[in-house]
Amino acid sequence: MPLSLICPTKDPTPWIQAITPIFPDVDLRVWPDDGSKDEITFALVWAQPPGVFAQYPNLQVIASMGAGVDNLLQDTSIPEHVSVVRMVDPRLVNQMGDYVLAASLNHVRQFPEYMQQQRWQPLVTRNVDEVTVGVMGLGQIGKSVAKRLLAMGFQVVGWSRRTKSINGIKTFTGQQQLSDFLAASEILVCLLPLTPETENILNLQTLSQLPQGAYVVNVARGQHLVENDLLLLINKKHLSGACLDVFSQEPLPQTHPFWSHPNIVVTPHIASLTDPISVAPQIVENYRRMIAGEPLLNQVDRQQGY
Ligand code: NAP
Repeated sequence: MPLSLICPTKDPTPWIQAITPIFPDVDLRVWPDDGSKDEITFALVWAQPPGVFAQYPNLQVIASMGAGVDNLLQDTSIPEHVSVVRMVDPRLVNQMGDYVLAASLNHVRQFPEYMQQQRWQPLVTRNVDEVTVGVMGLGQIGKSVAKRLLAMGFQVVGWSRRTKSINGIKTFTGQQQLSDFLAASEILVCLLPLTPETENILNLQTLSQLPQGAYVVNVARGQHLVENDLLLLINKKHLSGACLDVFSQEPLPQTHPFWSHPNIVVTPHIASLTDPISVAPQIVENYRRMIAGEPLLNQVDRQQGY
């Protein structure tokens, strides 16, 4: 049975090169030239054309090429019975940890300020162990990032939908404890999935509850953040700045005020990138499980949205 790659914005070549050596018998096809659509049961997908799945009557599994599935789940052409899986991968998790540590240390050790002042003027610096980082979302990535921040010496708090217990980390649960979590977070790291509940969660009301001088790191999705509310609070000096990897419009338009803001670091959605070689075994394993009728790896709860 052929496997179709539906990824109009990505070069499929590295994926084909990663899958073929470990699954030489596979019939890999690339949308839109993937032949007879009724032969396709498994699709590997990123940024699919909206509605495309309606063309595949025998589809059983859709695998997201990344960890996030928000774009995929917005597509109403996925029939109820089709399973959606995503990538869960230690390399993806570690890269995100590197990024968040770099952003947090960069802020605490004031590298942006030194780059701007360009003169011999020591600044008053806090120690890492005096700073509390709040991680929103304690899933596959957030939990690991929280532990790495803790190992680096930061104080760490976390927030999730269901109660979590992680050694050394004070955790908060649900809407009822969101205010307490925000009040404790001097650096706020967003690692939530994008769902109707989390869209625009970083807004004037929530960001105002962060302590004076707090710093925001958004590495989840641009639609978590109300960009004008962040700008307002930085310009009012309630927040000291932000490091942003994701934006409501990507690529971020060249005229966007974030580019020229002295307190905002912009990176082009590179915090953590899926390595096809690293994730190819789980794609092949899920293909095998689909054929065998076994439970799939890393299955998304479509009702929950992540
Ligand atoms: P995950 O394993 O699905 O974990 C999601 C976490 O968010 C869980 O702890 C979940 O709580 C919590 N959560 C979900 N809805 C919530 C709500 N309404 N209130 C409070 N907590 C809520 O996701 P992941 O693999 O860690 O990935 C997180 C996100 O990172 C992805 O969705 C993606 O957007 C982003 N990402 C970005 C990049 C990049 O390069 N910038 C790369 C990879 C991933 P429970 O544990 O209680 O369910």
